[in-house]
This record gives sequence, C-alpha cells and structure tokens, in this order.
Amino acid sequence: MNEQEVNALLTRIRAAVDAVGEIRLMEVCGTHTVSLFRSGVKSMLPAGLRLISGPGCPVCVTSQGYLDAACEAAAREGVTVCTYGDMVRVPSRDGSLEQMRGQGADVRVVYSARDAVAFARNHPDRRVVFLAVGFETTTPPTAAAILEAHAAGLDNFLILPGHKRVMPALHALLGGTDLGLHGLLCPGHVSVILGSDAYRQIVEPYRLPCVIAGFEPRQLLLGIAHLCEQAARGEAKVENVYGVAVHPQGNPIALRWIEQIFQTAPAIWRAIGEIPDSGLALREPYARFDAVTELGLTIGPDYEPPGCLCGRIIQGLEEPLACPHFGASCTPMRPVGPCMVSSEGTCAAWYKYRRTDGLAD
Ligand code: SF4
Repeated sequence: MNEQEVNALLTRIRAAVDAVGEIRLMEVCGTHTVSLFRSGVKSMLPAGLRLISGPGCPVCVTSQGYLDAACEAAAREGVTVCTYGDMVRVPSRDGSLEQMRGQGADVRVVYSARDAVAFARNHPDRRVVFLAVGFETTTPPTAAAILEAHAAGLDNFLILPGHKRVMPALHALLGGTDLGLHGLLCPGHVSVILGSDAYRQIVEPYRLPCVIAGFEPRQLLLGIAHLCEQAARGEAKVENVYGVAVHPQGNPIALRWIEQIFQTAPAIWRAIGEIPDSGLALREPYARFDAVTELGLTIGPDYEPPGCLCGRIIQGLEEPLACPHFGASCTPMRPVGPCMVSSEGTCAAWYKYRRTDGLAD
C-alpha cells in the first residue's frame, strides 16, 4: 500500500468521523487488535474514532475452570498434555502448565491437533490430551484430528473440549451492556469458515454494521473506512473487503467436519459466564475422545486472578490502563491474567505497542 492510498483511506475515515462526531467500533478478534497496533494503523486514526477490543482472543476467554482441568490432567501419571503455545503460560489455581512442566509434568507445545495425534500414535504407552481451544478457525483442524484418530483406532488420544463459537458470544455481548457501538470489524480468518452471510444475524436485530477484513494494513484501513461510512450514512449491512478469502457461505468442507464431530453445547466464557450454544461437545460416536469423562476431570467454576480486569477487558468495558497491575505487577514476563499472556491478548498488545505508538496518555 503506498502513501497515496493510505492518505485516501484516512481522508475517508476522517470525513465520516467528522460527520458523526464520535465513532466507536469494536474489533471482535485479538488478531485484529494486535495487527492494528503492530501495523501502526491505530496511531494514524483520528481522535474521534474509538477502537474497542472484543472477546476474540481464544486464550483470554478460556475459563479458569478449564485451565484447572488441564492442569489436573497434566498431573496424572502417564498423561501427556499437548497444547498451543500461549496456553502453557496462563496462570491457573495451582500455577501454569509451564510451571508444572518444570516440576516434571509432560506438557508439550504443538502447532496443530494433528501433531498431538502423531504423538499419541508414536507413544502408545501415554494418554495424550490435546487442549482443544479456539474459535471456528481452530475447530476444523481438531475435527480432522479426531477423524484421523478414529480411523486409526487410536485409544490413547483425547481432547479437553474447549472450542467456542463466535456468533452466540456476539449475541450475548450485544444483548447486554450498551457499548454505544457503531459497528464491528469482523475477523477474516473466522469468516473464511463461517462465511459473510453469517453476520446477517448480527446486522439485522442490532442494526449494527459488520465489515469483514483481513489483517494487513490496507485491509484494516479499508474495513474501518467502510464501517465509518456506514455509520455516517446511518446504514447497517454486512460488507466484505476480504473477498479474496471469504465467501458468502464460508468453507463447506470445514463446516461439515465441525458438524460431523461436534454438537452445540453451553460454554463458560471467562467472566461472561455460561452462554447457551456457544460451545461444542463431541457427538456420541466420538465421545470416547472426551478427556473429561475418560479421565474423570472436573471443570470447575470460573474465577478471576485477584485484581485482574481481563473479564471486563474482553467485554469491551475497560481498557488495560484501568488495571492497577498493568505494567507493574503484570507484564508479559510475569503475567497475572491471560490477556497479558496471549499473543492476541489486549493487555499484551497495549504493553508491547502502546508505549511507543505516540498514543501514550
Ligand atoms: Fe489482567 Fe494483567 Fe491485564 Fe490487569 S494487566 S487485566 S492483571 S492481564
């Protein structure tokens, strides 16, 4: 993107903001939060445009009860826990998985669910528990891994079900406290799976513009420009500026895998609580892969680390600077809550970029 394009998009955004007075947009997804900071786009935006981070960081919305169950699994004799990287550093009731590994537990970071299946295949003496977290982007790979384990007759591969669905969470968020939003910047990767038509269920009842964008600077500016212009025109519709990857109906193969392996179930979201139909449980033919029942684990109630505002931050109710721990007792090296651990966490993004982007208070 050249300077001329940047200036043209910024001019469109400024004109719309001037017309409305103040525009408040929520970036639903943690990848957008980090991309907005990292690319410098956030620091280019006019003062009248507020960007509010939403509940789209998968590690951040995972309940403490789930993390405690993951640690309970790791403490079992003969069990190996396989997980995506950020999960190992989130503090739980008895320390983090990383700390448990230091004390001898077998905790391994994997890059995909299939890596965990491969580990299980190569270590028949171990029971392998994969921490199945994330939204619609990571659910299809988990479904594919279960299909592979099922076909191979593996009886030592399990998952700790923790996948979440974006749409029920948006309904819960928008049906609760009025955040005065003018639109949602919707995540390109989740939308690749769900399709752009899925956002009609948000646009119509809430009269809220939804624009799907990718994560490069041009995509971010274009998505924001479209949202601001809808706000200025008083419109509410779905727009997709990431048409190269997102189609109206999404990815039918990935959706079919999800449908084959999982059924909707209630899920507990950090601080938000239980949201009906926002989670995914294994369907009966695949129930033997559920670590909760197979290992007798307990997913207890959710709770916040003392003083941590992650729950309010992921609901767009606070910004990280409101937290007394921020940058003092809570840093990426010594995180108190998941928003400071995850590479997509709002606190981590603010800690890393806010102090150098010219926006410091
Ligand atoms: Fe939680 Fe740390 Fe963020 Fe405060 S700064 S909300 S303690 S993660």
